[in-house]
Amino acid sequence: MSETLCDWSKHEIRERAEELLELTRNPEFFCRKCARVANIPYVLCKPMKFEKQLRKNAKDGD
Ligand SMILES: [Zn+2]
Repeated sequence: MSETLCDWSKHEIRERAEELLELTRNPEFFCRKCARVANIPYVLCKPMKFEKQLRKNAKDGD
């Protein structure tokens, strides 16, 4: 199973809720395309680290 969370259907989300909880318990990454979050980048199709985005926002803000 190498599909990303982004590929999960509503049905899969319901069926694999425990797996989803494990993958999203301490999210550090989000998907720029689908707005999903995860502990690890490789379950997202366009992963970006939270920190990176926060730094960028701070820089853009000032
Ligand atoms: Zn995605």
